[in-house]
Amino acid sequence: MGWDPALPAPDAEDIVKCVSCGLCLPHCPTFRITGRETASPRGRIAAMRAVEEDGAPVDAAFGTMMDECLACRACETACPSGVPFGRMIEAARAQVEPRRPAPLRGLKRLALAGVLPRQSVVRVLGLGLAMAQATGLDRLVPRALAASAPRVRLTDALRPLPRRHGDGPAAALMTGCVMDVAFREVHAATMEVIAAAGYTAVRPHGGGCCGALAAHYGHPEAARRMARRRIAELELYELVVVNSAGCSGHMKHYGELLADDPAWADRAEAVASRTVDVLELRPQVASSARGDVAMHDACHHLNGQLIADQPRRTLREAGATICELGDGGRCCGAAGAYAMAQPELSAELRRQKTDAIVATGAPIVAVANPGCAIQIAKGLRDAGSSVRVAHPAQLISGG
Ligand code: SF4
Ligand code: SF4
Repeated sequence: MGWDPALPAPDAEDIVKCVSCGLCLPHCPTFRITGRETASPRGRIAAMRAVEEDGAPVDAAFGTMMDECLACRACETACPSGVPFGRMIEAARAQVEPRRPAPLRGLKRLALAGVLPRQSVVRVLGLGLAMAQATGLDRLVPRALAASAPRVRLTDALRPLPRRHGDGPAAALMTGCVMDVAFREVHAATMEVIAAAGYTAVRPHGGGCCGALAAHYGHPEAARRMARRRIAELELYELVVVNSAGCSGHMKHYGELLADDPAWADRAEAVASRTVDVLELRPQVASSARGDVAMHDACHHLNGQLIADQPRRTLREAGATICELGDGGRCCGAAGAYAMAQPELSAELRRQKTDAIVATGAPIVAVANPGCAIQIAKGLRDAGSSVRVAHPAQLISGG
């Protein structure tokens, strides 16, 4: 099937920005592992250009090239021509989506547009997962699927969060989907950090997925529906604080996502402009000896939002000694559902990241994204390492 103007596609103006210089290639994790041009940013953009300009088919080979991409945006940060690769890969995947085999398409639609928007269903699944892990039943599911699942403890999944905490202007905690069931202790620590930054941390009514996964995996309409729901819940607050890199990076683009919707464009832009990642806050923290902390930068912080210095500064103020990984901030291979879709590439990136963490000798690694935390924890378990994974908010608040 050739290019269809009725379907979403990478913008022609974005595509022509690429001058094929190749300066991004050494920064691309999939190119570094495979050495294949088809697994490089330049090769992927050339394929998008062939579809756009020459009517090349959106076929299985095109789909594989786009699916092998981590959407880590390291190429975007490295590109001197300002190629906005992040939004191009999202559009290319939306272009591929209608051409996927019907069973796979149905499964993805069920997960991204059926389950994720319903937080009550996500919570029930989280509790089911906690019980399966506690009883060992999770060993019956395929390894790749189990590797992508967070470790959920029943006590955490059921842990109540306060409705309000602190003093000052109201700042909403974005509770999200996976974070809400598997990382409640991170939410509690985030509320402490928000309060230490001079706000009243508020847990809003409602809550649920921000839509990032749907946007990244070719379902922009589902992403827009979830964005509208979150905007309606969060627009009353002075600040919206997010503690997952993928979600904060996505929510800061709500204005762009809903720019064509006259009823929501201004509201979306207003919420996007008030959204911050918790790592961008400047809490007043008491310094106490916290020892060595290895620092993992999530791609959606490092490349998507250019967040790197502030969390290091805050952790140092809290008494930590930062140990850099020395791997150029390369992706850990989590990338949403990448471990399930591309298990070999994901496992190699996980191994490289684990080695880099263990080589620092630090007993703790700071990780501020749920997907990365799951991936890195698995890598460390597989390597027999005792390094603990903690969100920076937990370390800052003394957890
Ligand atoms: S994406 Fe940027 S760095 Fe990479 S080949 Fe194109 S112009 Fe060069
Ligand atoms: S987003 Fe990451 S994996 Fe994809 S082409 Fe760019 S650097 Fe490579």
